[in-house]
Amino acid sequence: MEKTLLIRNAACIATQDDVGTELRQASVWVRGNTIERMGPAADLPQTADVVIDAQHHVVVPGLVNTHHHMYQSLTRAIPGVQDAELFGWLRGLYPLWAGLTPEMVFVSTQTAMAELLLSGCTTSSDHLYIYPNGVKLDDSIHAAQEIGMRFLATRGSMSVGQSQGGLPPDSVVEREDAILKDTQRLVETYHCPHHGAMVQVGVAPCSPFSVSQDLMRLSAELARSFKGQGVRLHTHLAENDHDLAYSKAKFNCTPTQYVQDLGWLGDDVWHAHCVKLDDEGIGLFAATRTGVAHCPCSNMRLASGIAPVRRMLNAGVPVGLGVDGSASNDAAHMVNEARQALLLARVQRALQPAETRIDTDGQARTFFGCDLGPTEMTARDALRLATRGGAEVLGRHDIGQIAPGMCADFALFRLDTLAMAGGAVHDPVGSLLLCASPQADHTIVNGRVVVEHGHLRTVDLPRLLERHRHMAIALAHKSQK
Ligand SMILES: [Zn+2]
Repeated sequence: MEKTLLIRNAACIATQDDVGTELRQASVWVRGNTIERMGPAADLPQTADVVIDAQHHVVVPGLVNTHHHMYQSLTRAIPGVQDAELFGWLRGLYPLWAGLTPEMVFVSTQTAMAELLLSGCTTSSDHLYIYPNGVKLDDSIHAAQEIGMRFLATRGSMSVGQSQGGLPPDSVVEREDAILKDTQRLVETYHCPHHGAMVQVGVAPCSPFSVSQDLMRLSAELARSFKGQGVRLHTHLAENDHDLAYSKAKFNCTPTQYVQDLGWLGDDVWHAHCVKLDDEGIGLFAATRTGVAHCPCSNMRLASGIAPVRRMLNAGVPVGLGVDGSASNDAAHMVNEARQALLLARVQRALQPAETRIDTDGQARTFFGCDLGPTEMTARDALRLATRGGAEVLGRHDIGQIAPGMCADFALFRLDTLAMAGGAVHDPVGSLLLCASPQADHTIVNGRVVVEHGHLRTVDLPRLLERHRHMAIALAHKSQK
């Protein structure tokens, strides 16, 4: 018999269904890894194998992170690049990352996942694009399996080094035939195409400035050769003005034209950042259902700019959120990422020129950005990006909302805390996004309680952090030799 789980009598359940239903004093009944029933607490069973009393909680679908480089948790806040923009930041860090070992990738991936899980995130993508010293994507996948996170591991790559006009040093790039062969092996070994998949593998050459156009084309062909199995394509695009200038100088086109030529638009593709996507780009992304991983904290940290998220959403572009690499954020807190997305969108609107509009009384009035800014993104819009939006961007139809038949992924946040005081009584969902971002009290992945009363149950966190600390020091020392 499969185990049952009951989330009983929740103060609020933000289902993220099509109309954004929020239930009060409601329960959710889970069998195995699937949601079976939900509704008024009085109408549902009162007991199960595992019961979580949620009377002081807001329950949301497990949050979905669509872009990350988990190994970078070993190189957070490195003094020499704290104040660098993207290319300078990368040039400063490549030599450090060249010292990565398989064990470092395993431990840093678990550390990054621990941080995500404790913030209510149940599904994450990761983009590992550097493979020195015998590192394999298998190291990340094994880390995810042990900690119990739903995982879309992407096989990143770099093949154009400095001597060929690329950004990374030649010592960290790989041969393209080896990249493709290893990618095929990983998909065949680990990718699960089924409902409820815990591990999937994507194909992810790093960026226009570190791989060739050939590799981009061949990668798309490889992913699409696994017909009907949902093998997705991922890369970085249009991240800042230097990225745009590189595209213009090297390829004589915009980033969108570059990916269009290479077959990298489609509902099986998502691009990270897209800060500098122009109107033509937004139109093409919308028409082809190409997804975007919006990474507000990283974009602010590296002064890349403000992605035009409202225009993307209005055009119909699928948008999710990404905490991005641990070294360009330098946090991996999904609720905080959603909060920053909300705040940044409002600033974006306030930077626009004044507009003359017809007001409700029929009179023409001038509206300044600060009049319109707050409507640019609501708290519920931001939560949507972090749940349904992320699920869509990762091509998942079985996560991102709380409904019968969906995977049993949940995050529960306490409402009776200092940060929520005076807010949760009025609006639990609004408070989750607007008040100081809380840690999850319970995080449930695939029907399994992974975080219980704020503690990770699947790994020994103090021991993990001690190993991680030693490795961060070792990595820094290596690069100084
Ligand atoms: Zn990135």
